[in-house]
Amino acid sequence: MNIQWYPGHMTKAIRMMQEDIKLIDIVVELVDARVPLSSKNPDIDQLAKGKSRLILLNKADLADRAKTQAWEQYFKDRGFYVHSLDARTGKSVKSVTGIIQEACREKIERDRRRGIINRPVRAMVVGIPNVGKSTFINTYAGKACTKTGNKPGVTKGKQWIRLNKNVELLDTPGILWPKFEDQTVGMKLAIIGSIKDDLLDITELAWNLTGFLVDNYPGILEKRYNIDEKRDKIEIIEQIALARGCLQKGGAPDTAKASKLLLDDFRSARLGAITLDLPV
Ligand code: GDP
Repeated sequence: MNIQWYPGHMTKAIRMMQEDIKLIDIVVELVDARVPLSSKNPDIDQLAKGKSRLILLNKADLADRAKTQAWEQYFKDRGFYVHSLDARTGKSVKSVTGIIQEACREKIERDRRRGIINRPVRAMVVGIPNVGKSTFINTYAGKACTKTGNKPGVTKGKQWIRLNKNVELLDTPGILWPKFEDQTVGMKLAIIGSIKDDLLDITELAWNLTGFLVDNYPGILEKRYNIDEKRDKIEIIEQIALARGCLQKGGAPDTAKASKLLLDDFRSARLGAITLDLPV
């Protein structure tokens, strides 16, 4: 399978992001906790040069907890501030403000020495499509926050969401593009559902997912579908088809249907919390 990405408006998007980044102190980068590396575009390192960096491992509710912890350590070791969360719930989202302040402490002190007091730290959210940027901004900003800028009668521009007296967030996220350095990145993004299914061969995705699960999460498929995992991948999918009544007209297993079922079960965490990128 050859997954292609057509960047379309990407050059314009990058130029806009470069302009926005000039206005901010810290880049808050969202990645999917199930694929922290595959959902990360390393080009942001160049774009965000000189800025404080915070990586949010989002959708942590769907990811393998132990592996998320290992990924947190991985990014910490590389000088990032890191935090894991489920952007849809308010709880772990709230602590982000404190982390932003901590990450920008040097800048705040520098301002203070220059006599600049109470200038809020400005943050911007970035990430590839589908990692939860909008969800995060909505939950994080909540209803209590005041939007600043964009006053009536003034040319439409960026809005800053004031989170508290110390932190402001740009209301529109920067959209990065996936980096398909190798085919496994595209494959993993497709498996988590970040790339439209109709572009892809579902059976091939399910086949790859099956192999990964048997190798890295032994017993999960057996438990969910009551099948024998110690078989060829295609046989495993056939067994799933039979176990779930995915049959063709003559009664033969409908592997396409079973593949779709397996992917749906994975994406909605019915197979459990699973991480596809293994910490290095
Ligand atoms: P964006 O393209 O980065 O802005 O992503 P969205 O905010 O539109 O989110 C993409 C999908 O992921 C939506 O269906 C969200 O409901 C879902 N989502 C976002 N954050 C989380 C999370 O922390 N956990 C789970 N399970 N789903 C999430």
